[in-house]
Amino acid sequence: MVVVMNLSADPEQINSVQQRLEQFGFEIHMIRGVNRLVIGAVGDRRIISSLGLETMPGVESIVPIMKPYKLVSRESKGESSVVKVKDVSIGGDEVIVIAGPCAVESREQLLTAARQVRRAGAAILRGGAFKPRTSPYAFQGLEEEGLKLLAEASEETGLVTVTEVIDQMSLELAMKYVDIIQIGARNMQNFHLLRSVGRSGKPVLLKRGLSATIEEWLMAAEYVVSEGNESVILCERGIRTFENATRNTLDLSAVPVAKGQSHLPVIVDPSHATGHLRLVAPMARAAVAAGADGLLIEVHPEPHKALCDGPQSLTPEDFERLMAELKLVAAAVGRGVREMVM
Ligand code: PEP
Ligand code: MN
Repeated sequence: MVVVMNLSADPEQINSVQQRLEQFGFEIHMIRGVNRLVIGAVGDRRIISSLGLETMPGVESIVPIMKPYKLVSRESKGESSVVKVKDVSIGGDEVIVIAGPCAVESREQLLTAARQVRRAGAAILRGGAFKPRTSPYAFQGLEEEGLKLLAEASEETGLVTVTEVIDQMSLELAMKYVDIIQIGARNMQNFHLLRSVGRSGKPVLLKRGLSATIEEWLMAAEYVVSEGNESVILCERGIRTFENATRNTLDLSAVPVAKGQSHLPVIVDPSHATGHLRLVAPMARAAVAAGADGLLIEVHPEPHKALCDGPQSLTPEDFERLMAELKLVAAAVGRGVREMVM
């Protein structure tokens, strides 16, 4: 349940409600909206009515949350959450574009890509340093060397950075060098890792699992938020279906569904969803039209030479063209596209 406090509730009243809940074994999470405070309380539903919370000073209402995910549910917080990373806000009026290569391959490749995507208007630079590959013989990433290159690219371009972590060791390293931690589709239900990124306090980009339902995806987000980290961005990246004309099937309806069920921002990755460069732009435009708060797009200076995901990587020229198109689509749905000021 959540306890909605009055606009005028003072710290003492808030404290009393918190103490009462804790006394009866409830786990407390403070959810701060723009105007008011909501106290999320996870515990035994059967004893709520006997606590007399409704009559405590400062309490406006008690709202039971029926969904299995509590803290990320729209019921617990009506207004949409905005995840702020440095000067970039994800989940606000502007659509945010994350772009860059699948993997960090070399200093020259990453710095060239960073300059190119920045020039085209991306707000966040991506690049994998730890790659979860299907084959153990495929390129696995430059690891700490790759993270250092991301930090250097960020220093030069001013772009916020995101990279995937695959375990505790890569998380600890990534925290030193990048701004946003990505949990990939294959680790969406690695509950121990979800708790660790929750405790890290770093903003988290949480991909939907290959065959995860939207509810399972939101439960994964709940793991992160329940550790006290509210900065979670959901990312739809296509799911496994019987269709094999595309790498995955982009579930665009997941965007309005997830945004309806949760207050968290939702972005779309048309690159991994489709697996083909020609399908990336149409699906990116459709995602913005469907209400996505952002996009994650793979861009490589020379896609034919990419060590990972070349067939789905846009050239810098394709990406620049797409950015111009996205502005038109965003404007049609009453939004703008966040652009770095040069
Ligand atoms: C990636 O973003 O490079 C990646 C591996 O994505 P996913 O986890 O969605 O497959
Ligand atoms: Mn990739």
